[in-house]
Amino acid sequence: MAEKKILKVKCPTCKKKAVYSKENFSRPFCSERCRLIDLSQWFEEDYSIAGDDSFSIDDSYEKE
Ligand SMILES: [Zn+2]
Repeated sequence: MAEKKILKVKCPTCKKKAVYSKENFSRPFCSERCRLIDLSQWFEEDYSIAGDDSFSIDDSYEKE
């Protein structure tokens, strides 16, 4: 019989069990709210790390 396997993961934000399925658009988070919370945390980290604007292009790569 078609037994559906329900994969559950731990929500990285609130540590609750979240259903990991196509229906859960916020996976691996339990909800859209938790997804956004995690996302905003990443952005904050990104800002603090990339504080300096030392953006350099390695042009030594283009050698023939
Ligand atoms: Zn959550």
